[in-house]
Formats: sequence, C-alpha cells, structure tokens
Amino acid sequence: TVVTRFAPSPTGYLHVGGARTALYSWLYAKSQGGKFVLRIEDTDIERSTQDAIDAILEGMEWLGLTWDEGPYYQTKRFDRYKDYVAQLLEQGKAYKCYCSRERLDELRESQMANGEKPKYDGKCRHSHEQQEGSYVIRFKNPTEGKVVINDHIRGKIEIANAELDDLIIQRSDGTPTYNFCVVIDDWEMGITHVVRGEDHINNTPRQINILEALGAPVPEYAHVSMILGDDGKKLSKRHGAVGVMQYRDDGFLPQALLNYLVRLGWSHGDQEIFSMDEMLEHFSLDGIGQSASAFNTEKLIWLNQHYIKTMPVAEVAEYAKWHFEQQGIDLSKGPSLEQVINIQADRVKTLKELAEISRYFYEDYNEFDENAAKKHLRPVAQQPLEAVKANLAAISDWNAVNIHAAINATAEQLEVGMGKIGMPLRVAATGSGNSPSLDVTLELLSFEQVAQRIDKALK
Ligand code: GLU
Repeated sequence: TVVTRFAPSPTGYLHVGGARTALYSWLYAKSQGGKFVLRIEDTDIERSTQDAIDAILEGMEWLGLTWDEGPYYQTKRFDRYKDYVAQLLEQGKAYKCYCSRERLDELRESQMANGEKPKYDGKCRHSHEQQEGSYVIRFKNPTEGKVVINDHIRGKIEIANAELDDLIIQRSDGTPTYNFCVVIDDWEMGITHVVRGEDHINNTPRQINILEALGAPVPEYAHVSMILGDDGKKLSKRHGAVGVMQYRDDGFLPQALLNYLVRLGWSHGDQEIFSMDEMLEHFSLDGIGQSASAFNTEKLIWLNQHYIKTMPVAEVAEYAKWHFEQQGIDLSKGPSLEQVINIQADRVKTLKELAEISRYFYEDYNEFDENAAKKHLRPVAQQPLEAVKANLAAISDWNAVNIHAAINATAEQLEVGMGKIGMPLRVAATGSGNSPSLDVTLELLSFEQVAQRIDKALK
C-alpha cells in the first residue's frame, strides 16, 4: 500500500507552499487507499519551537489534512539513528573523520580557487591509523556509477556519484544530521512515495545512496515546484499572507483554499472547481506540472465566493461563527446564522466580511452610514418613515411577504416610488444604504427592533 508523509521543520507557521505539498501528499495517499504520516523534523533545536509545532498542527487540522500516523518527532528518535550509524560504521560503510575545521576550510578554499566544486577529499576515508580527538562520521558515498531518479514530476534525473560528497551523518557532538534522519525515517515509516519541495532535490541522490547502503527500499519521488508571488519571485511574507491560518483569519473557507492549492500546479483538463471527492477521484502525481506557479489572490477570492454561495449553509455557518465571535457579535441576540447566510452569501467575498456587514442583525448600530444618511434620511424622511412604521405595525404575521406588502401599500398611499420608502427604511433599519432586499432583511429583525430604529432615525 501507498504510504506518504509530510515532514515539516517547525521553524514557523504552516505556509501555503507547505500546505500545498501536504495536500498533494495527502491526496495521493488517500486516493490510493493508503496512509498519510505526519513527521515533525525538529532536529534543528535552535530554530524549532513548540509554537511552530502547534501552528503547523492547527493549520493541518483546519485544512482537514488528517494524518493516519504521527506526529512523529525526530528529536524523540535519536537513539534509533545512532544505532544505524553504528551499523554502517561496523559494516565499513561509514567512517570517522578527524579532519579539523581549519583543514576543511583550507581544502574548500583551494578547491574554489582552482574552480572546482568544493568536496571532501576523503582523507580519513583512506587513512587507517587510529586517531585521537573529536570526529564526525561520514557516509562512504559510492565513487563510481550514478544515481538515477525517475521523478514523478521532473522525469528522469541522473547524478554521477563522483559529484557527491561523503556526507556527514553524525556530528562531533554525537547528533545525527538532517539527511540521515530523513533516510531512516522514510525507511522505518515505510514511506513509498516522497512528495516534497524541489528545494530538496539535491538531497535525494545522497539519501538514495544511504538507503541502498542500508539495504532499504528506495521510495518513489515527486519534487513539487515553488510557488511564486505576483512579481515572479519566490512567495514570501513580502507578498502578503503566506500563513495558512492567516487565510482563516481573513475569512477564507478551508474548502476554497484547498481547491485553490490543488489547482496551483496540478490540473485535470480545464476544470477549476473540485469537491474533495473529485480531487480524490482525479488526483495523480503525474498531473502535477513542472513549472513554478504564481499565487493569484483574485482567483482564491473567486473560489471563496463560490464556496460561500454553494456549500451547505449549515457548514458555512460553522466556519462563519468564529468570525462573528472574533468581531464580538453575540449570536444569541438575533437570527440564526443560517438565515443570515441565506440572504447575505452572494454579497460577500469572505466570512470576515460576512460578519462585518451582518452586525445590525444582532445589535443596534451606533452610527448611520454617512453617505446613505445624507442621501436618504437628512433632512429626515419623516413622512415616509412614519407611514411605513404604521403599516408595519399592522402586520399580524411578521414575514417577508407581509413586510413587502406593507412597504408597497405605503408607497401607494403616499403616491411615491418604492425607493422613496425603501431607502429611508433601509438606512433606518440597518444603518447602511446596502442590504439584501428589505422584506427578507426586516423579517430577520423583529417589528419592535425596526420600530425602535425608525424612531432613532427620526430624532
Ligand atoms: N523538513 C523538510 C522541510 O520542512 C522537508 C524534508 C522532506 O520532505 O524530506 O523543508
């Protein structure tokens, strides 16, 4: 069975690039009936933080990228790595290197001066004298032949072993190095497909050589291209939001972000909108493109609007609730969120905006929208407001149909157009010149609330 993994280094929040890699990895496992493993690569103790770990887990959970195993932590697995280092030493597949920092620096400088690629010269690989002092352990990389990778995205890649260094697998303080931990973990966790960023492509031949030395199976690889900002440079904070949770805060649905990310670099014909079931049905590693993709916020917004409008309203409400709470709106003081979403969904781009423009359902506004008030209230539209209030008061069953009829009747009584009644009433009832159709808006308020707001507007 297929086993994939996502292996973030916890040095910051989960950014959209990482989330896309995780999504591809997750989708592949799930679409193949396989398993998805989460592994926290926290061996860089200086830069790894608990906050970052929490942020990554939170981001994964919010996106719904559930893991079947883990999270594993590399720092809890040091003993295992050491066992394998010892094994390689014993088998003569690794060796102790006593070369000093100074020697290595000199070596590098002279190689660079000669226009050569810096590379350890293998002094300790060939010396058999017993030595004293501190040492690192290096892997004996094969000196001949080549490593061939049939990458699912980048095709066939070949690297001559002569190009590769004898990688340090254990530092002088006894800790294992990054590449070695990855190799042991991918093996022990039974990873069959490594999906990761193309920034790791240089590590792949080194990791394959170590796997082979250990007699471990070599997984398949898919190296995913970068995400670029709108200026063609690698996506970073300079371009705005890059953290997944920032998108939550800004009012995006995880469904929209997932749909956006899956299409950013992967395609299935020219289909743009994918339900999770459709992603699972159509996703393949070979459908991922080779070129870097540019992040396009407009398109993400378009998808977000689509999902707000089309997802089951109860689900949208679950995500929207958080935004109302964030904005200090007490949902117990008004209509159900579902009712509000039903009439507001096609007026907003984000859930944050939804909360912002729906406050008047739950509390009295403090100020009228300046322009709307100037245009429709001041000088106070006293006659239309008083007349419509009287007609609204006569309604025995407070619903949109009757409210509509009352507004109509008022316009007829005063022999004016609907707008001359509707606009002042809208501004009075909602504080703004912009709301869904008045009958359905007022229906979600009570007559008492509307009457009270009309009085306020008439003051
Ligand atoms: N820990 C690495 C990173 O966060 C990923 C390593 C891998 O996927 O092999 O970039």
